[in-house]
Formats: sequence, structure tokens, C-alpha cells
Amino acid sequence: MVKHYSIAIDGPSASGKSTVAKLIAKKLGFLYIDTGAMYRAFTLAVIEANLDPKNEEESNSLIGKVDISFNDIYHITLNGKDVDARVRENDVANNVSYIASYKEIRLYLVDIQRKIASNKSVVMDGRDIGTYVLPNADLKIYQVATPEERAKRRYKENLEKGIETTYEACLENINKRDYIDSHRSFCPLHPAEDSIEINTTDMSIDEVVNAILNIAHSKGIKNVE
Ligand code: C5P
Repeated sequence: MVKHYSIAIDGPSASGKSTVAKLIAKKLGFLYIDTGAMYRAFTLAVIEANLDPKNEEESNSLIGKVDISFNDIYHITLNGKDVDARVRENDVANNVSYIASYKEIRLYLVDIQRKIASNKSVVMDGRDIGTYVLPNADLKIYQVATPEERAKRRYKENLEKGIETTYEACLENINKRDYIDSHRSFCPLHPAEDSIEINTTDMSIDEVVNAILNIAHSKGIKNVE
């Protein structure tokens, strides 16, 4: 039987998880799964249906009625439409943490995440991958950086994508999401006991990628290409 590997990368918003996870997946020939994009796509579905993301019951009404998936270029799709850029916009960013705090919605999306990882080697990033989604992952990384550094990165990323914002707004959004993500009752953001913490505040992307690849190799995680 072919061995499938899983690498979990968790941490707060804008700590660089998706950039790093994508590069590691490419290097190892693994599938990259951005679970944050799935919560964002569900949030977009709620907004588009004119429902209130702050209302749990209204938001839950879309469970089972939306098709959230990834296309062959790893972009998130909602009902078959590529919404990868759309889900980074402010209306989604400002509401996603409410949606991600609803247990029924989490269970629905976690089920999809586990199914994807069940027959493929994956790098999955999120908040609860090592603690809940893939508790037996072969490697668990907890990636952190100061809120100010994360706001700086998010601001730069938004400018590059043409999303209008300010550094202060990014910092406020990050602090708000950190608070909601780590205080929700079901699957709050916290490091798994067996995770390895990497503080990326003063590290380049390449340094982080290489550090994680070295740990992966030392654990016998191999390229499957
Ligand atoms: O990673 P990203 O910033 O795109 O995630 C968007 C939001 O989705 C996070 O702020 C968090 O509220 C939620 N999330 C989560 N669990 C995950 C991934 C993301 O609660 N596994």
C-alpha cells in the first residue's frame, strides 16, 4: 500500500502559512489544501444569499446546499465558480471568523477536508489541522509572527492584489480575528501539543520553507512525485 503523508500548518491570520504551505507542497509533490479559503467561500455564500453572517441559524441554513471545492490550479471554487480572489475582499475577511465559529459549519467543512486527505499526501493549512482535522499528521507546524509584522504582510499583499485598505485596518482585522479564533468554544486556535513552533517574524519565506523541509526530511517524509 502506498503511504500517504500529511503535514499540518496552523497559526494565526497572515502568519505566512499559505505561501509556505504552497511551496512545500510543490517541493514534495503533495496536494495543497487551504482550509481558510473554504471558510471564506462559505462566508461568501452567506453574503451572496443575503443572509447575516453574524446569525448562526441563518448561516447554518446553507450547510449541504453549497459546493465548496478546489479546481486544478488549487483555487477555491463556490458552486463551480473560481472565487479565489473574491474571497480575499474586505466583506468576506471581516465576517469569516463568525462563520468559522459555528460548530455545524466547521463539522461540514472538516468532513470535506478529511475526505481530501484520506487518499492523498497533503499539506493542509488552517487553525485546527493539527489539533482536530488531522490529529495523526506526520508533521505539525505552528507558525507565528507578531501582529504588526502580519499586518504589514497583509497590507502589502492586498495592495498587490488591488484591494483597497490601510495598514491600520489590516492590523485591526488581524487582532479581531486572532481574538475570535482563539476564544471560540469549538476548535479554538491553539498549538497542538506535538507541534513545532516557528516564529517567522524575522525570517524570509525561503528560510521558513527550508526549515520545515529539513524537519520533514528528518521525519522521513518523502517526495511522492
Ligand atoms: O487562513 P485564512 O486567513 O484565509 O482563514 C480565514 C479565517 O477562517 C480565519 O480567520 C479563521 O477564522 C477561519 N479558519 C478556521 N479554521 C481553519 C482555517 C481558517 O477557523 N482551519
